Formats: sequence, structure tokens, C-alpha cells
Amino acid sequence: MFFSYPRNKRLIFIIFIIISIGLLFIKSELLLAQKVRKELLRHVEYLSELGNRLAGSEGDIQAAQYIKEQMSDFGLQVKKENFHFSIYNPLSVSLGLAEGRKLGLEVIAWDPFLNGNQIQGSILCVSSATASSAEEISKLQVSGNIVVINPLGDEEFNLGMLNRALLLISRNMPKAIAMVAASDQEAAKDLVGQSVIEGAIELESERKEYNSCNIIGLLPGKSAALEEIIISAHYDSDIYPGSNDNASGVAVMLEIARYFSSDKYRPNKSLRFCAWGAEESGFIGSRIYISRHSAHLKNLCQAVINIDSVGGGGDIYVEMDGGVENISPIKGSLSIPFHIVDKALHNRMLHSDILWILPQLILASNVDESFKGTINKAVELAGYTIKPAQYQGSDHLVFARAGIRATNFATSGGYVHSEEDNLANIKVENMEKVMSIIIKLVELLDKD
Ligand SMILES: [Zn+2]
Repeated sequence: MFFSYPRNKRLIFIIFIIISIGLLFIKSELLLAQKVRKELLRHVEYLSELGNRLAGSEGDIQAAQYIKEQMSDFGLQVKKENFHFSIYNPLSVSLGLAEGRKLGLEVIAWDPFLNGNQIQGSILCVSSATASSAEEISKLQVSGNIVVINPLGDEEFNLGMLNRALLLISRNMPKAIAMVAASDQEAAKDLVGQSVIEGAIELESERKEYNSCNIIGLLPGKSAALEEIIISAHYDSDIYPGSNDNASGVAVMLEIARYFSSDKYRPNKSLRFCAWGAEESGFIGSRIYISRHSAHLKNLCQAVINIDSVGGGGDIYVEMDGGVENISPIKGSLSIPFHIVDKALHNRMLHSDILWILPQLILASNVDESFKGTINKAVELAGYTIKPAQYQGSDHLVFARAGIRATNFATSGGYVHSEEDNLANIKVENMEKVMSIIIKLVELLDKD
């Protein structure tokens, strides 16, 4: 006891030093987290204040310029890849039946090679009464006909069922698929169960030309000639500020770029950060990118990690499904469907709100078992939880359709395509979580 005094003093001193270092470490971690949060919000704020970022608008051009400058600041090799496209914006869509009867339509997709403002033919009415199982749906004679879905009063016909029906139907190449507008579903009740009737889908539309671009920032890996990982987000919006959809995704993508560009965290593989233009017009930017860089993608792309609308306060959803139920996933060889190539974009009628290209193009998912395992591991390492999702409508679907491994991060509890999609409703916590998970995911893929 007697001799213990100086020893105790030394011990106290050592403990003091350890605690101080620990506190300093915690403080610097905290400061770093605060800095990241500040930067994430700064990006969302800047992009939101541009007003809308409709493809080709002033806001769209300035957003692209901002992203380009940020990427250059982080030391990325940045390229602006311009593109031009024309689409038909729909003014009205209706279903014309015998005796001048008309019904409003909400969703319409048609054979993109049928051009023209009227699609005539036999109409097949589908509801859960006639198509309650995959087997029943695949027996329908849809080829060459117009398929009209009336989900009225059909509790069975939920979104999952609808998606599955759309996919199964579209694989058999109908002339068009349409859904009766909510306001006319009651009036269309008598059509359900009727055999084939004659009619036409009438479209009134105007053709418009647009210019937009993709901003591509390359962070070369420490080892040359290894695979590349794509981390992407679309920067355009619809008519609203799009703080969640998708300034939030762009912000997360930029901060991931900043993180990996520091020498300390630089991966062995190259990272390609892609800000897609004109997603809201029908995944135009990503489709053009695929058509222009198909050989490079085929040889070098390990995976696409897309980020779309991650500023909601609910759960984090990650695209994890390997394909639609009963339909095997598309994987392996890269074969770009003809729909995706540049020239086919010309004269196509597309609009994200009421017009779809045939769902067979977009309802694809491409997360194989090993990629799924890597995503789950990254989530575990980051210490968060996610919910698996399928068919989140964003650019990753186009890559999936082209046979490239692709996933998407999104959140629930946020606003999209509404006036409420503004800065005040952004929840930055989920953006930080998504960022941490993707950083872990990239680190795991880098070792793969
Ligand atoms: Zn989006």
C-alpha cells in the first residue's frame, strides 16, 4: 500500500490519457458525421432551390453543372455526355367503345413499334375474376389484342398482383395494356367478364424535343484494369422541386464520391459515379448510356448501385428480388433489348405519369443470390436494417433488363411527385444511413 501512491498516480495519468484520446476520437467522429450531414443537406438545398428540374429546363441545366463542379472538386475525371430525344406528351387518353361510349384510362403501355394516335383492335377486359392466378393470366389470348384492366372492387388485385399481371400479359405482346381510370371504374363494371369487344384507344398528344445530359465522374481504382462499380442517381425532377425525388439521391451519391476520393479510402476497383438525366421521361439518360457504352459495361461493370428518393423518414427499401414470381431473373450475358437502343427512342411516346413503355422492358430485377448476400452483409456491417423490395421504378431496372447486376436504394415515408416533395420534408438521417450502407457495400464488392 505504501508504495502504491506513485504507481497509482501513474495509472491515473495513463487512464486520463486513454480517456482523452478516446474523447478526441469520438469528437472527431462526431464532427465528421456533422460535416457529412451538413454537406448532404447543402446539396439537397441547392438542387431544391433551382425550382423544377424537368429535362431540358433551366433548373435541369444548372443541376447538371452543379454536379459536374462538385465531382471535379473531389478530383474525379468528369465527362458531360449530351443527348437529344423527342417524346410525345399525352394530352388525353381514352377508350372508345361502341355507340360512342368513352372511358378514361390511367395507365397505358403499348407496343412501341406501333406509332400513331389511335390503337384499334379487339379488347380483352381483365380483372381478378378472370385472372386470379399466373396460370389463368398466361392462358389469356392477349397477343395482338388490347388488354384493359379494371381493378374495381378487387381486393385481390393489389399492386403486386397488378405488376405480375402486367408482366405476364406484356410478355405475350398485346397491342396495348391500359387500366381504367379510377373515376370510370364503376361505369366500366359491365365490361368485366365480357368476351372480346371491339374498340380503340384514342390518344391526343404533342411531340416535343429535349436536350439533356448524363454527368459521369470516374474515380480510377488503385489497381488498373479491374472491374468497375457504378453508383448512380437521377438528377432531373418532374414539375416539383424534387428534394426527395431525387436531390436526396444525388446528395448521397456525391458524398460517397467525396468519401472514396480521399487517399485513405480509395478502393482498388474504379468507381463510376453517374448522374442520369431525363429519368422522369422514361429512363432516357440511363438507356442512352447503356446503348453508348455496352461493350465497356459488358466487360467491366461489376454492379450498379442506384439511389432514388432516400430522404423519407420511413424504412429503407433495397431492391433485392431476383425476378418476378415464376419467372427467372435475367442475368449473365449482356443483351440489350432493342427497345433500349438510341434510335428506338426516337418517335417513342413516353410519359412517366400515365404512359409506360411496355412493362416487359421495365419490370425486371437483377439481384442474384451472391449480390443479395453481399447487400445483406453490408447492411449488417453498417448496423442498420432494411426492407427488401422489388420493382422500384428507377434507372436500375434498365440495367437489370440489359443483364447487368443492379440494385436500388429508396425510403418510404417521403413525398414523390407532389408539392410536398420539398426541403422542409427531408429527413437527413435516412440519407446518412443509406450512405453508410453503400460505403460498406462498395468496400465488400471491392474485395470480391
Ligand atoms: Zn426518382
